[in-house]
Amino acid sequence: MPEFVIPAPPTPSVAVAGSAGRFPVRRIICVGRNYAAHAREMGRDPDREPPFFFLKPADAVVDDGASVPYPPETGNLHYEMELVVAIGQGGFEIAPEAALDHVWGYGVGIDLTRRDLQLAAREQGRPWDWGKGFDRSAPIAPLHPVSAVGHPSAGRIWLAVGGAVKQDSDIAKLIWPVPDIISIASRSMELQPGDLIMTGTPEGVGPLQRGDEVTGGIDGLGGITLRIT
Ligand code: MN
Repeated sequence: MPEFVIPAPPTPSVAVAGSAGRFPVRRIICVGRNYAAHAREMGRDPDREPPFFFLKPADAVVDDGASVPYPPETGNLHYEMELVVAIGQGGFEIAPEAALDHVWGYGVGIDLTRRDLQLAAREQGRPWDWGKGFDRSAPIAPLHPVSAVGHPSAGRIWLAVGGAVKQDSDIAKLIWPVPDIISIASRSMELQPGDLIMTGTPEGVGPLQRGDEVTGGIDGLGGITLRIT
């Protein structure tokens, strides 16, 4: 171990369902528009665009049930409910047929987004980081190992604010399914154990206010709750 000149930062981690153990997080890789109806609501043609990616810092993760302070520098905080893939075995240029062998488990997460900053960056051709990668921008529920849930490729994905359902779709509608996402991402960077992939959100995204109670889930992968304070 090197002798650090300041205390080393702690390893961010996500809870594991039914276990006291936690999944250490290395990076959070996020897929852009990956449901056709959401691409359309964001003003894009879902048939024309290959998948693209952006990153959140690993320490943006927040546990299920957390209270998240309304973030600074935004007046338009949005929720995006997403299927989360936890990578347990790294690899470079992974073939789609081998991609699922690299998955440790799955969970549900929310890609919190400062939509006003994201759209301003988009219009000006600037990076999305300030709209997407802020503190506590990745609430993630306990992960489920493949040994317990297999590799889910269909099932309802939903999110409600104050009990009113806002997003209601099915992970079978992913434009680029999990094996393709892993394969394509691994052409650009070597995936590593501890990487999380947020696979994109279905239609129905919208704003959150202070005091909102957010609930959501994916069939077979449990649910998540979140309060904005
Ligand atoms: Mn997203």
